[in-house]
This record gives sequence, structure tokens and C-alpha cells, in this order.
Amino acid sequence: MDLIVGVYRDASGKTPVMESVQEAERFLASAAESKSYRGLSGNLDFNDGIARFVLGSGHPALERQSTIQTVAGTGALRLIGDLIAKLSPQAKVWTTDPAYVNHLPIMAAAGLEVQTFPWRESETGLDFEAVVQALDGARAGDILLLHGCCHNPTGIDPSLEQWSAISRLCHDKGLIPFVDMAYQGFGDGVDADAAGLRLLAGEHEQMFVTLSCSKNMSLYCERTGAAMVIASEAGEAEKVRLSLEQIARANYSMPPNHGAAIAAYLFAHPEAWLKELEECRMRVCTNRQNLAAELKAIGAPEKFQCLERQKGMFSLLPLSSSQIERLRDEFAIYGAIGGRINVAGLGTQQIPLLADALKRVFDS
Ligand code: PMP
Repeated sequence: MDLIVGVYRDASGKTPVMESVQEAERFLASAAESKSYRGLSGNLDFNDGIARFVLGSGHPALERQSTIQTVAGTGALRLIGDLIAKLSPQAKVWTTDPAYVNHLPIMAAAGLEVQTFPWRESETGLDFEAVVQALDGARAGDILLLHGCCHNPTGIDPSLEQWSAISRLCHDKGLIPFVDMAYQGFGDGVDADAAGLRLLAGEHEQMFVTLSCSKNMSLYCERTGAAMVIASEAGEAEKVRLSLEQIARANYSMPPNHGAAIAAYLFAHPEAWLKELEECRMRVCTNRQNLAAELKAIGAPEKFQCLERQKGMFSLLPLSSSQIERLRDEFAIYGAIGGRINVAGLGTQQIPLLADALKRVFDS
């Protein structure tokens, strides 16, 4: 059972091109007038569309943000990392432990020091006390790197009250929030998934955001994403965008247009795309519910029930490393580092097999 991959899989195990994306591509192919260079900020309609998608139209921070198209979410992370290193080289970046595998290498490659804070389950959700305790060591001007939703690899998302407490903590300690949003639409829905980010954007004068269309438009290989900077006022955000453009120029000059043109089309004609995205989300949620129900039915320990409340494609199995080895060696069930499984990678008939194996490695 291959639960390693980091991409969405449908019930037949495929990662298909969305029909709405194909429709956009047909339109773009028929309407294309020129492949001439675009600007350093990439596709401006895309930048506007993705800013509205993540913040929600009418959000006051739209007036004081600036967004630049990047080479996917990864490129956005590096661009923002380079910007932080340029503006504030002493700032430490605080990232979750466990972290998305690329956060530390990207920030370190930008020359920044990285520290971690724990991101783990308590009885009811995120263990917030542990977060607060670890961040006691953070200094004013440090950067707090959070996942907007569907935390990779744990699937643990803060409640809205916890987002509010995170916002207060940033104020109290002078930390700058940095939200990496790679799975909007895969947790509770496109707006609910952005609620924490929108709250922070409303309450902070400075904030960094990185965005990816890899998952929610299934545009993985088109490398489509964006970096957003929120500042105290529009002129300030514009200055920062010029700095981002300078960094981009020295790296790859301009981002590729095709994926961004597709995404801009989908932002302008969202109905069919949002319906397909909702189907992906429902598949992940149903797999979670079925797995948790099966575990309950066979009498597996209560701690496995966190798999149902966790969000998005990934969860970290609550098993020790030797139990994870047994899953592999005795049951041929393969997860990624640390026991991360891709819940979207589960076929319906595999759910009872996985539940049974989890119970067995736990029991003996
Ligand atoms: N951030 C997180 C947390 C991710 O999981 C991913 C995708 N694996 C990314 C950013 C970047 O994805 P991409 O470069 O494909 O947009």
C-alpha cells in the first residue's frame, strides 16, 4: 500500500487534470495572441485573482498588500526567505516540529536561522500550551511560519480560537506572521480554510503569505504560486513588491505564464473548478471518516480517532518508529518520513486492511 506520494489521488489512484483546467487550456489555446515576455511580477490578473481568493473579496488588507507570481509555492517560500534575509538578516524563522520537509532547507538556504516549536496533538486538537512554551524563546522581529490549513505532515490545524490566540501572541512578542497556504479548499472549504490567515491579515500590519495552486487546481507541474506581502499601507507594500521583483530578476527573471493564465481563468470563472475541488475535499474527508469508523469498529485505541478530525491529505500516524517499520515489513504499508500517510492515496478497499494493520502493530 503506497501512501507515500504528496499529490491528490482519485478513487482510481490517478492524479487527473481537472476538467475545468482543460476547459481553461482550450480557451487559452484559442485566444493566445502572443508568447511575448510578461513583467517581473508575472500575470497581473492571476496576482489579483489569487489575492482575492485567499483574503476573500472585501477584506480590508487587500488595499495594503502586494502579490507577485512565483515559481509555485516553493519559489514563493524562497523569494520571501530571501526578502527576510535582505531586510532583517538577524531574524529567526520559527517553524513547526514536525515541519514541511522543505521549510527548513529553503529558509536555511536563504541564510536564515531556523528554530522549531512543537506541533502535536493534545486530547482535543493542537497542543497549544506546547506552542506557547516553546515560543517563549522568540524575540521581537522573529518570523512565525505557520501552515494556513491542512498542516503537512500532521493534518493538525488550529481552531479559530487558537488562531486568535496566535495573533495575540504575535502582537505580545512582536513576531511577524508568515502563513504558507498550500492546500486551501482541502480542509473545511475554501473560505473556512483561510479563516485563520484572514484573521491574522486583519490584525497585523506586517505579514508574509506564500500561496500554491499545485493542489487545489491540480497544477503541480505547471509550477504556479504567489508571494504576498501585507504592509501597513499600500505604498509600503508596493516598495516591498519592487524588492521581491529584484530578487526574482536575479534568480529566474520572470515566472512561467501558462499555469498562472489557467489559474486566472479559473478565478474569473470559478463555478466548475470549485465544484471539482469540493469533490476532492469530500473524498479526503470520507476516507478519514471511514478509516476512523473502521478503527473504532475493530476496537483500536481511541488515539487513532484523531485521524478523523485532522485536515487535508496528510496525517502522521500516532505510532513509534519501530511500529512504522513493522507496518512496512509485515504489512507492506509504506508511508513517508515519520509515518506520514496520504489519506487521498487510500482506495476504499484498502481502508479495512490499513485499520487492521494499525491495530495489530499497536497491540503487539
Ligand atoms: N508548502 C507546503 C506546506 C507544501 O506541502 C507544499 C507542497 N508539497 C508547498 C508549500 C509547495 O508546493 P509547490 O511548490 O508545488 O507549490
